[in-house]
Formats: sequence, C-alpha cells, structure tokens
Amino acid sequence: MTKNTSEQKTIEHDTEAQTANVDLDEIAKFEALAARWWDTESEFKPLHEINPLRVNFINQHSPVAGQSVIDIGCGGGILSEALASMGAEVTGIDMGELPLNIARQHASDNGVTVEYKQDTAEAIAKARPGQYDIVTCLEMLEHVPEPGSVIAACAKLCKPGGHLYFATINRNPKAYLFAIIGAEYALQLLPKGTHEYAKFLKPSELHRWMRQCNLDLSHSTGMAYNPLTKRYRLDPHDLSVNYLLHAVKTND
Ligand code: SAH
Repeated sequence: MTKNTSEQKTIEHDTEAQTANVDLDEIAKFEALAARWWDTESEFKPLHEINPLRVNFINQHSPVAGQSVIDIGCGGGILSEALASMGAEVTGIDMGELPLNIARQHASDNGVTVEYKQDTAEAIAKARPGQYDIVTCLEMLEHVPEPGSVIAACAKLCKPGGHLYFATINRNPKAYLFAIIGAEYALQLLPKGTHEYAKFLKPSELHRWMRQCNLDLSHSTGMAYNPLTKRYRLDPHDLSVNYLLHAVKTND
C-alpha cells in the first residue's frame, strides 16, 4: 500500500523529470520535523551528538578552512553550519523546503554564511561540475530511491583530487536491532518509521558505486552508540551499524 502511494506521488509531483531520484514520502517526514531541527533534545539529538565526531573526522582528513564544500541532503544545516563556522565556503542542498528555511534562519541568527538551495544532487552536479574541494553526503543515502545515482552526482561535483564523505547505515541483523528496534522503539531516540531496513546500505555496495565513478576509498569508520553511556564514538573496527567513509576523487 504505502509503496504504491509513494510511487504514485513521486510520479505525480515530479514535474522536472520522470526519473528524479527523490522519494517525496521521505522528504515529507523531514518537513514534518523541521521546526525541531536545532533542538538538541528532539528527534535530531543523534545528529547533534554525532556532529562533532564527524566534523573532526572530515577536518582531520581534509582541513576545511578556505575550502569549497557542498553538503548534499543538508537538512536543517547541522553539518553545513559547523563546517562554515570553521572557515569553509559551504553550499547546502536539500529537497525539503522547511528544513532549508530552518537552516537559513539558524545561520543568519548565528552570523554564519551558508548558501542553502533546494535542489537534487543530480541537478546541481549538472550545473556545477568539478567545483567543490569537499563533498559531504551524510545520513541521506538511505532515504533516496537510487543511492548510486547520488554517489555519481557527488563524484561529478568534486574537483579531481578532492575529498568526499558518505555516511549511512549498514544492512545486517545488528543494524536492524540497533537502528530500528533500539533507536525507534526501545530508546525512542527517533520517531517510528524514520528508517526502512531495506534501504540500509552495506559498505561493499557503497564501495562498488564509488569505484564506478573513480572514487578511491581512503578511510572508513563506524559511529558506534553505547546505550549504557548514551554516547557515540568513532570506531574504525566496527562498521556494523552507522558508518562514515572518506574517499578521494582520482585524476582520471
Ligand atoms: N545530512 C544532514 C541531514 C540528514 S537527514 C545531517 O546529517 O545532519 C536527511 C536529509 O536528506 C533530509 O533533510 C531530507 O530532506 C534529505 N533528502 C532526502 N532525499 C533527498 C533527495 N533526493 N535530495 C535532496 N535531499 C534529500
């Protein structure tokens, strides 16, 4: 049922091209929560908690000050704004209008400059190929119909020799237990229905898409949650649930 409705909606609302890689039901989920994006005790608490870890990881492998960055699926701007306040020149794109409005307001309240734009990765890649030193696409691939197409668009946006970061959720029984049963039902960190197991992505699947567009994997790390201490930490040996990959675009 749900699937049919979502397919119908995608087709009805898709004025640009029949093939737009957007699931409107997913966008609607984030639109509904947008007002609470910067509330660190809200549904977005996990993103706020992992943010310093991922910002450090990115800055460690590709110092961001003075670099041009595009953040794909930026939502309310938790990552975009952090990178901009470290001196990066940041563009954030998302298909959700309300999250973008929240992002704009928050940046302006905090005196941070970020260019926020409602667009898809594929469309902006056509308009701005090879323009960015760093491309980030975090916690977004598991919400799109064709993640491989987003990865190809990210590769296109990146300058040769530039850096790319992808974060998503692994697909295995432990990830199901932690990311869905644990986070949505037991601990109620996230609203029920935030994630769909079938859309989770194995690192090997990302690796394959990355190789197809000349992206070399440089570093991988897990972002592991300890329910007892209620803290996340980076663990390069445990990619079993949330994980983050760093790749470099080769010159050929
Ligand atoms: N990257 C941000 C937000 C993650 S939430 C962070 O980690 O802090 C996922 C975001 O992806 C939502 O804001 C949603 O609107 C956006 N999104 C989902 N599908 C998209 C698509 N096809 N194109 C652009 N944005 C999309």
